[in-house]
Amino acid sequence: MTATKINLLNLNRQELEGFFADIGEKSFRATQLLKWIYHEGVDDFDLMTNLSKGLRARLGELAEIRLPEIESAHPSKDGSVKWVLRLDNGNHIETVFIPESDRGTLCVSSQVGCTLNCSFCSTARQGFNRNLTTAEIIGQVIIASRALGPQNNRLSDTGVQENHSRRSVTNVVLMGMGEPLLNFDNVVRSMDLMQDDFGFGLSKRRITLSTAGVVPAIDRLRAVSDVSLAVSLHAPTDQLRDQLVPINSKYPIEELLAACRRYVADSPRRRITFEYVMLKGVNDSKQHAVDLVNTLSNVPSKVNLIPFNPFEGSEYLCSSKTAIDRFRNILTDAGIVTITRKTRGDDIAAACGQLAGKVQDRTRRQEKFKTINIQEVIQ
Ligand code: SAH
Repeated sequence: MTATKINLLNLNRQELEGFFADIGEKSFRATQLLKWIYHEGVDDFDLMTNLSKGLRARLGELAEIRLPEIESAHPSKDGSVKWVLRLDNGNHIETVFIPESDRGTLCVSSQVGCTLNCSFCSTARQGFNRNLTTAEIIGQVIIASRALGPQNNRLSDTGVQENHSRRSVTNVVLMGMGEPLLNFDNVVRSMDLMQDDFGFGLSKRRITLSTAGVVPAIDRLRAVSDVSLAVSLHAPTDQLRDQLVPINSKYPIEELLAACRRYVADSPRRRITFEYVMLKGVNDSKQHAVDLVNTLSNVPSKVNLIPFNPFEGSEYLCSSKTAIDRFRNILTDAGIVTITRKTRGDDIAAACGQLAGKVQDRTRRQEKFKTINIQEVIQ
């Protein structure tokens, strides 16, 4: 019987040190290995020349470095790139790179599908299959960094990142498919690797975790990590938020905001970013903006307004530019830093809420939506 090999991309530095201790090796082997993988882009033990031949052979027997496979890469005309990655059993996830003048942001998925069922999100329609492993989360960062090469923000010919300091991925946002706080351990472990000097070496300000509001997990996160937090609010009142973000009926706005205050309590200059998708005639009136100012009055906040991105079968429309500008002005006049997020990658279905991957659904939600569509066709 052959034992399954351990995928070393599932381990953070501490765990790698434990792995090497178990096989009778010194702990510095862990940093050597991390440097090969994350700085040099080398996954083949035989090419790791500062490890002895014996150790390389041992690693080959016990372990592997296995990334998700790239199914396809889709460059957008605005410079964004979406990768569709193939996992086991027909599941696929999506990862998006968004270049800007001063940074390159990678939007990373945390689950195959999502359980939360927000009414305006296309991932919700896909149902849910499983949490991603650490290797699959950090693997998205590895794949994008290697494919883009250093800084030029274009796909390199060699596929290998040559210079770690001129990297193209400078920021990571956990805003792809899934709810990161419902895959807590693997997400935290992969954020360790993003921050580790022997991993990607990103500072805490350059990593943002976005949640729909899993309140107890926000407190757990505060205890183990200090990355930036974004919260998908989308409505100023419970009555409306219950409809848009169903997890609100479990953790209503007041509890959510209390957790947000706790999250930034020890660092007075930090703020929570609140995301607010602009849905025509649903949450975009003057009154909604005024209510939002009141709701956020005692939380250190920034607001990102996200123009709604339509997808097949979506029942909402995006607010007009006039409505979005009016909404932003009300918040800005009240002293809340507010930006309207530019829509990027919509030509390749890579904009917020359009990531759908291919999910072997275990919740039967896909069936439900199929039934609805068929009924619409019949009528
Ligand atoms: N589950 C986490 C991570 C997903 S982040 C969360 O809810 O925060 C994806 C972001 O895009 C969230 O703010 C989400 O609310 C937003 N979004 C989802 N569908 C969208 C759509 N169709 N148009 C614009 N933004 C959308």
